Amino acid sequence: MNNLYDILFQPIKLGPVTAPNRFYQVPHCNGFGHRMPQSMATMRGIKAEGGWGVVCTEETEIHHTTDLSPFFEGRLWSDDDVPALALMAESVHKHGALAGVELTYNSHDASNLYSRAAPFGPRSMGITGGSEYEPGQTRAATKEDLKDIRRWHRNAAIRAKRAGFDIIYVYAAHNMTLAFHLLSPHNDRSDEYGGSLENRVRFFRELIEDTKEAVGDTCAVAVRFAVDELIGSAGMRSDGEALEIVSMLAELPDLWDVNISGWKNDSVTSRFERQGFQEKYTSFVKKLTTKPVVGVGRYTSPEAMVSAIQRGVMDLIGAARPSIADPFLPQKIKEGRIEDIRECIGCNICVTGDTRFVPIRCTQNPTMGEEWRRGWHPEIIAPKKSNKEIMVVGAGPAGLEAARALGQRGYSVILTEARREAGGRVLLESALPGLIEWRRVIDYRLTQISKMPNVSFYPSSEMSAKDILESGICNVILATGSTWRRDGIGRARHEPIKGNNIFTPDDLMKVNLESGSLLPYFQQHTPSGDLAVGLQKILIYDDDHYYMGSVLAELLAQNGCEVTLLTPAPMISYWTQFTLEQEKIQKRLLQLGMTLLTHYELASLSPETTTIVNTISSAESTLPCDAIVMVTDRIPSDSLYHELKPALEEGKLESLRVIGDAEAPNIIAQAVFSGHLAAREFDENINRDETPFRVERVSI
Ligand code: ADP
Ligand code: SF4
Repeated sequence: MNNLYDILFQPIKLGPVTAPNRFYQVPHCNGFGHRMPQSMATMRGIKAEGGWGVVCTEETEIHHTTDLSPFFEGRLWSDDDVPALALMAESVHKHGALAGVELTYNSHDASNLYSRAAPFGPRSMGITGGSEYEPGQTRAATKEDLKDIRRWHRNAAIRAKRAGFDIIYVYAAHNMTLAFHLLSPHNDRSDEYGGSLENRVRFFRELIEDTKEAVGDTCAVAVRFAVDELIGSAGMRSDGEALEIVSMLAELPDLWDVNISGWKNDSVTSRFERQGFQEKYTSFVKKLTTKPVVGVGRYTSPEAMVSAIQRGVMDLIGAARPSIADPFLPQKIKEGRIEDIRECIGCNICVTGDTRFVPIRCTQNPTMGEEWRRGWHPEIIAPKKSNKEIMVVGAGPAGLEAARALGQRGYSVILTEARREAGGRVLLESALPGLIEWRRVIDYRLTQISKMPNVSFYPSSEMSAKDILESGICNVILATGSTWRRDGIGRARHEPIKGNNIFTPDDLMKVNLESGSLLPYFQQHTPSGDLAVGLQKILIYDDDHYYMGSVLAELLAQNGCEVTLLTPAPMISYWTQFTLEQEKIQKRLLQLGMTLLTHYELASLSPETTTIVNTISSAESTLPCDAIVMVTDRIPSDSLYHELKPALEEGKLESLRVIGDAEAPNIIAQAVFSGHLAAREFDENINRDETPFRVERVSI
């Protein structure tokens, strides 16, 4: 092991337990929760196997009055919930790691849609959990209620200990829990739990003391505390009351796990923040306590981790996303295999497991969420079953992953790519504003492929059906991607729309990648193309609803264009709510001075104006516009598949498979998954009538 990184592998005492190293998987949601305990346990166990010294649960409900449905989180309502969570503790212990459980009692963030109990709040207030705008209100917790909650927390701590957990959390972060809400300056209760800071800290202190008293002999008691809400004096501030709170409780817990709040700020995407972005808020904590401190900030570089410890910012490197993208990150550092780290790209597709109520997915790690149901391991794959040679056509995320994983299995692979460089859409998209870290999808795979003598990569090699057949390779995987439509057809429009000066994301991304500036292109292609006449008026029609419309809007603004972003959806970049980005995107576009129009559809285009129609009122209006960028559906580039199909039927090819966007355009994570699946399924007999994975069913 490189001595440089020794510090990351030093054990550290957390109260009565000892973490074997400084790699700490902080609590994170995963969409499995209490519904799929085996999937959850297996996923966590693999992180422990990969070297994470501490592996925690997601937030874990302690009582039916804090029911977080429709989200699937952990649950410890009664003794009956112990065995499911014990599975996780067991699978983490198997690899010598400590298991942590984040006990939670949420107030107005608990919608109680399943239990139908009235949630408790510091006062009676509107419920935010579930949809963020639930119609009900909490009941103001009385002192008796708070006493009950303390007892429920204590009971849950005892159950957690029985389930085998080594670290038990008291949770006051993410603007979710009652303890955090009672800390708030807005807590104006007139009893001893409101008003002065000492009173507001009381409940948090009591929960810590209760937990220590109940399980502190053998378990570490950790707190998760959000030191800043990034809303200035309206909330918790790291240069305000958070300092006082940490000072008041400094030596009480065995571990301080500190971050910023809410979740949108804590798990911010790489489009908005870089590695280590939380240090400026959390670094004060270590100066006020002798207890170990864990912090987060999407650390993927071992140098940055070492530096954070050496600079006295934290003692343990907390990670959710880096541990999802690479469960074996610690082991790779230990073995000096830094170039093998599959670095998180900060896209937050993992978060959508929780926000869409489905098993966790990851762009970089296609095995994430598939550990139990498909038996996939992030580092191990079945060896080849034959000496067949495979041609993979197209080196976008799907083709790169298929070639890499087939190469890992030991097959001979020829990977061909029409362009001079690998990466497909990721090459183009990572050159757009804020998306540079997405290049890691390419870098990881090219690095791995370059180490495999059995995988040959041929750039600048556009393949025709004839070329493929003449190559003599009988097994073909087509990962030829897709192109953006120019005719406006998408979710909202089913008829093509005609007009001049219609551009697609492909047009703009290509020019941006090749020349770095769109201006000469617009000069050539739009009627008022003379720069001297001022700004170009560009309309972006976004019926895609993810990031593309807004990133192109930024790109155009950077190029001096006057941008209007128009969408039939009720919200700009609608789907980015689920990656926690929507508000940040909208704020950025507004700061750039754009006009944002929701609930609008295109009606007709004429030179220099566009007629639009409100999707609710049907009222028409016109917009001045030099050019339109259509961000609508994509067309799968599957012509090679149709051309080669007869050869398959005639037996000239042994196998032919179309994957990624060429099969069905989707997000990058799906392309990577599709490539991985094709590699795993190669040489296997797949029965299309059967579900290809295990399903966790309730036994009756
Ligand atoms: P996916 O997301 O499914 O991986 P991409 O669009 O990112 O799809 O990548 C597809 C890649 O396939 C692009 O880099 C494109 O240049 C390449 N490609 C498309 N057709 C051919 C072909 N006939 N021969 C070689 N490469 C091709
Ligand atoms: Fe990182 Fe994206 Fe994977 Fe989440 S989905 S761990 S943000 S690469």
